Amino acid sequence: MAFDLSMIQATYDRMGARISAARQLTGRHLTFTEKILYSHLWADLPSAAYQRGTSYVDFAPDRVAMQDATAQMALLQFMQAGRKQVAVPSTVHCDHLILADTGAAADLASALDKNKEVYDFLASVSNKYGIGFWKPGAGIIHQVILENYAFPGGMMIGTDSHTVNAGGLGMVAIGVGGADACDVMAGLPWELKFPKLIGIKLTGSLSGWTSAKDVILKVAGILTVKGGTGAILEYFGPGADAISCTGKGTICNMGAEIGATTSLFSYDQKMSDYLRGTDRTEIAEMADKIKDHLAGDPEVYTDPDKYFDQVIEINLSELEPHINGPFTPDNAIPISAFAAAVRENNWPEKLEVGLIGSCTNSSYEDLTRSASLAQQALEKGLKSVAEFTITPGSEQVRFTAERDGILDTFEKIGGVVLANACGPCIGQWARHTDDPTRKNSIITSFNRNFAKRNDGNPNTHAFVASPEIVTAMAISGSLCFNPLTDYLSNDKGIQVKFEEPKGLEMPLKGFEVKDAGYQAPAEDGNQVNIVVDPNSNRLQLLDPFSAWEGTDLNNLKLLIKAKGKCTTDHISMAGPWLKFRGHLDNISDNMLIGAVNAFNDKTDSVKNQLTGEYGSVPQVQRAYKKVGIGSVVVGDENYGEGSSREHAAMEPRHLGVRAILVKSFARIHETNLKKQGMLAITFADPADYSKIQEDDKISISGLTTFAENTPLTVTLEHQDGAIDSFQVNHTYNNQQIEWFKAGGALNIIRKQMIG
Ligand code: SF4
Repeated sequence: MAFDLSMIQATYDRMGARISAARQLTGRHLTFTEKILYSHLWADLPSAAYQRGTSYVDFAPDRVAMQDATAQMALLQFMQAGRKQVAVPSTVHCDHLILADTGAAADLASALDKNKEVYDFLASVSNKYGIGFWKPGAGIIHQVILENYAFPGGMMIGTDSHTVNAGGLGMVAIGVGGADACDVMAGLPWELKFPKLIGIKLTGSLSGWTSAKDVILKVAGILTVKGGTGAILEYFGPGADAISCTGKGTICNMGAEIGATTSLFSYDQKMSDYLRGTDRTEIAEMADKIKDHLAGDPEVYTDPDKYFDQVIEINLSELEPHINGPFTPDNAIPISAFAAAVRENNWPEKLEVGLIGSCTNSSYEDLTRSASLAQQALEKGLKSVAEFTITPGSEQVRFTAERDGILDTFEKIGGVVLANACGPCIGQWARHTDDPTRKNSIITSFNRNFAKRNDGNPNTHAFVASPEIVTAMAISGSLCFNPLTDYLSNDKGIQVKFEEPKGLEMPLKGFEVKDAGYQAPAEDGNQVNIVVDPNSNRLQLLDPFSAWEGTDLNNLKLLIKAKGKCTTDHISMAGPWLKFRGHLDNISDNMLIGAVNAFNDKTDSVKNQLTGEYGSVPQVQRAYKKVGIGSVVVGDENYGEGSSREHAAMEPRHLGVRAILVKSFARIHETNLKKQGMLAITFADPADYSKIQEDDKISISGLTTFAENTPLTVTLEHQDGAIDSFQVNHTYNNQQIEWFKAGGALNIIRKQMIG
């Protein structure tokens, strides 16, 4: 059995008391989101009514999910915690590294060969530490989670931004960085800023060509790519209850595109049906017993403006299918206006490829609705004019779709079934094009459509729509085709028109699968060896960082004084570097190469104070490390904003940087630095930033009496012998000061584990 009933029961057992306590504390009725959040506080019972958008709160998630690209560093770190088993149920899913080229079988075989050492590593770590392992080809993480692990009222974190998909089964499911996943697996709390709440009231009902995808395409148009930032979207209303569970998953999935922390729906009959249909009747029965806890209080939905920070109402009966894009997912255009928009904007009318699937839209319902159009095409004498690809979301969906003749129907109109994996959605796509310099259009049922995401080609105009709209448009081969109104000419020259798509939420004969691709962990992981080739380029076991030496830090060199924006992408670039995610030393060669040096306005060019010559940031830092000299990185405002990439904190620590001194930090990065045992400090007076000179020797004092709310002192010795001294602040609490002293949070956990 893949899911953990006792964990779910424990969550349900504590919900009643926690919800009552939270009602008392807040003095009002609660939304479903609040019920889940208060039920997952790290503390036994809520001790405060938290301020939305400002309070930082410790939570205890029920589960952790990791995809193969991000799992590597999360697990390498976890291995340092000294635990025998993960503290909460966790899974790894091999879906991001499979290149889509010719078709499922050949592509999978080639990925198994190319990524063997990564897969072997992930499988053996999973086996040893009690982590469920989903092999390459088993499916896309979020569809597999929805089918096997998501449960109403639960809280999950995952090392992927579309973890939010599980909101379709009533979960607070949030995408995080690997360091957070590592903490939770190691038994530590997980901190989140208590979110704001946006209520989305759905009235009316979906019908005809309009599908769940159109709800989120419309919401993205209303809220834009930033409108959900720091908020959880809670969907409710009669329209919500009528949407299938996987349709709800689609809506929650794409909430990531508007920056939402997550999205969710209350528990309802559709979720109950889906749980039963995916062999989890026990969970449905358990959820039925505490139904009241698995939805907002009725008063909340009667008067939503009183309980949500913002309320949006959408009448599904009036909702048209939408197509969003190109280059951004929030440019929402109703299908009736789309052809005109294509011509007006001079977007390439010829549609070159239609792609359905991805974690957003790869359910049985999505495939059957699309296949109903493919079937009509066959009957009406049409074939797909554009290239047409299908990525099923899981082996269970694929096997069932094959059994029911759905894949065969797609293939008959010219479709190519790709592996059950991310493939083109994450740019793992060997696109077949005769001229990559040509402006061209593709349409997908995926979620993201930023430039170059799918095929790396800036000339590709990628649009996002429901799988049924993608299928119909691929068959037409034109971006200006409106399947609701327009006719196509068939193989006999006769004008034919599509009827509305029809589908099944779940298979009439039930789901079926021969080998789902799951590998359960060993009962006793003690005997399992984790082998990493010491000559590997992609993987490297981590050594614990050394503890603080117990003295102030004197005579450090300035490594770089970064000017302006310095995001985690400037600190640890993505792109080609991602292949080294599991190899800290190799990926450290990208450290701060995107940051602008304030002294010469150049990137990746800093003065080596030992030689007086300019070199790349990592090279200069390696030179300091070699002779045992520590250094300081100085930065501007909001240093470390962007994705919570733990590499951005680990690389400076690995290469011997001793402190990051900035005008202000992005909070997640600041915490990541603290976790790695790095000193993260801020100018008490931001004007002191200008005192830093290129050849400075820097000392930091006050560390021997390091305490909460007590500033430290930085002293600069300039090249001409002049001295500047000023106060710097920090936000370390007592526990974080212990992390600093021990050389990192994991060093403390390991000590506790070893006893
Ligand atoms: S299918 Fe796309 S969005 Fe979904 S997990 Fe894979 S890469 Fe991410």
